[in-house]
Amino acid sequence: MKNLSREIVKRIENISRPVKIMHVCGSHEHTIMQHGIRSLLPKEVEIVAGPGCPVCCVPAREVEECLYLARQGVTIATFGDMLRVPGVTGSLMDAKAEGADVRIVYGVNNAVEIAEKIDNEVVFMAAGFETTAPTTAAEIVSEPPENLSFLSCHRMIPPALKFLIESGEVNLNALIEPGHVSTIIGTEPYNLFSEKYNIPQVVAGFNPLDVLMSVYMILKQFKDGKAEVQNEYKRAVREEGNVKAQELLEEVFYVTSREWRGFPTIPDSVYEIKDEFSQFNAREKFDIEVEEVQDVVKGCICGPILRGIARPEQCKLFRKECNPMNPVGACMVSKEGTCNIAYRYGSM
Ligand code: SF4
Repeated sequence: MKNLSREIVKRIENISRPVKIMHVCGSHEHTIMQHGIRSLLPKEVEIVAGPGCPVCCVPAREVEECLYLARQGVTIATFGDMLRVPGVTGSLMDAKAEGADVRIVYGVNNAVEIAEKIDNEVVFMAAGFETTAPTTAAEIVSEPPENLSFLSCHRMIPPALKFLIESGEVNLNALIEPGHVSTIIGTEPYNLFSEKYNIPQVVAGFNPLDVLMSVYMILKQFKDGKAEVQNEYKRAVREEGNVKAQELLEEVFYVTSREWRGFPTIPDSVYEIKDEFSQFNAREKFDIEVEEVQDVVKGCICGPILRGIARPEQCKLFRKECNPMNPVGACMVSKEGTCNIAYRYGSM
């Protein structure tokens, strides 16, 4: 790693401007923090974390939708991390404490098993990026039990990147693209960012050398005057991605515009279930009454953190009122959340 870091320092000597690289993956942030990668980089190279934690990105309104169902007596099945993500009137954990039937599952198949065993209506709160959305789609096309439906909170990474680039708020000039998401979508969806915005990009794997190599490859693109999508994670990511998974996504979902936690509405960024499968769409099956709500928990700066313009250390609640045992905001809940990672591995 030291050799590569020396090469990076040499590269930066030939680059006249600072480089701000954004990544959008909780696993990348984990690797960066666990291995102190930021400390190995020259001061001209900054890596900032964007909206890479799928649980953190679910906005309060969608948590409220689930809370509404839970409080109406519907059984909710979802991933463990989702239980502590705050809505406005509490979290699913609070609803469970109030007596609602909220169950932790490890995958959508567990939700199917629950629905097969009980008579009650079961809703699977389906959160995750392009990586997990195909598993939801696969269950929907394989005729799940009639008492099971899905609340799709699945989100797409490229539209969020486009939003961030065009907003100019974070002023990024390079991207490390997420390995897991890219195994599904391939590298083509990123091309626009290099072609239109002149941004060098590297799809990266998750060990420390992958991340350092991706930084090196980005700097080399700067040195060579290039802006293209390169694939450092060839052992898992193909240019065309996973075509079968993409076909499943296409079959089951349409793409719509919704807000993300910390973001206003991001155009064409969320997967919603198509009308052909409306009997499995919890939003169609139930009259869910939720008012327009905002994410912000007082004092929490998850929004700016998810947009890459703030670090957890800038939050007054970090390590005090907010910690993994008592998360105030979504970014402290999941092990993929930027605040949770910073709590465990120290600053920057
Ligand atoms: Fe929100 Fe807690 Fe992170 Fe502060 S430390 S931004 S309160 S999640």
